[in-house]
Amino acid sequence: MKYTKLGSTGLEVSSLGFGGAPLGSVFGPVSEESAIESVREAIRLGINFFDVSPCYGNAETVLGRALESIPREKFVVSTKCGRYSDGFDFSAQRVLKSVDESLERLKLDYIDIIHCHDIEFGSLDQVISETIPALLGLKRQGKVRFIGMSGLPLAIFRYVLDRVEPGTIDVILSYCHYSLNDSSLEGLIPYLKDKGVGIITASPLAMGLLTESGPPQWHPAPEEIKEACAKAATHCKLKGQNISEMALKFSLSNPDIAITLVGMCTTQQVHENIKAMDNLERSSVDCENILDEVKEILAPIKNKTWPCGRPEN
Ligand code: NAD
Repeated sequence: MKYTKLGSTGLEVSSLGFGGAPLGSVFGPVSEESAIESVREAIRLGINFFDVSPCYGNAETVLGRALESIPREKFVVSTKCGRYSDGFDFSAQRVLKSVDESLERLKLDYIDIIHCHDIEFGSLDQVISETIPALLGLKRQGKVRFIGMSGLPLAIFRYVLDRVEPGTIDVILSYCHYSLNDSSLEGLIPYLKDKGVGIITASPLAMGLLTESGPPQWHPAPEEIKEACAKAATHCKLKGQNISEMALKFSLSNPDIAITLVGMCTTQQVHENIKAMDNLERSSVDCENILDEVKEILAPIKNKTWPCGRPEN
């Protein structure tokens, strides 16, 4: 496993992070036993970063049970606040309660990273004036160690970071913007590095678009993107390659991105994703050619995304 420093936090994290949304059956039903086994196998094989949220079904509870018997220094947990199964609430009162609820479900004394979850659905000014100050209070109390924010539109990150004191936001979590079909996060990296903000990218498989089985029913991408990704996946398969492995290698190969989070819930996926990571340096001419062909198939939809959140954000 490869480890890197996460921005200015001093945390030493595995470049391959465990995305916990599937633990809460967000991508389809999962048995708790298999989910717990996948977390323990990931730790055994060197993954030390785990990301969940109160809105990923019962993922926090499952992760808490899986980590119960593991020494605290062996893992870093990131969870979120502000987004819930019944909607969004970035008020100070709700996020303070939310962190206590997460600590209880995770069975932890402190959370390593707390993200304001999908802030484009709330008022960014409220996040700045109310949510972040409440989280800074929790940091002083020792309930959380670092503060982050997540969301889809890249402009939200700059909006907030331009308006808070340096060092207030330690990390950002961007998703679906550093994959084979969309790598627009690249443009923001110099700004984030300059601010000393750690970079986490999620959904290298574009939330299932870059898999042989295809995305879940709820996937928000327009048909044009879905069709191009399905065409790329079929092309890879015909050439004896797996689109997911290729996509994961692409995301993992940028040294400026500290963590690539992949959603997992079975030991088989843990093994496959670690194998993709281990094979990063090993790439045949054949693979390179197929990668070029895949990029050509995806070229008409390159960096195309979908609307998300409030129109003003
Ligand atoms: P992903 O792109 O990682 O895709 C996950 C899907 O791919 C799941 O169906 C999973 O079972 C499957 N999969 C995993 N490994 C595979 C393999 N080797 N071969 C084939 N299929 C495989 O999408 P994701 O889960 O949405 O993103 C990763 C994680 O990042 C999430 O679990 C979550 O922790 C985080 N995330 C956060 C936000 C946010 O904060 N707004 C948004 C998206 C993701």
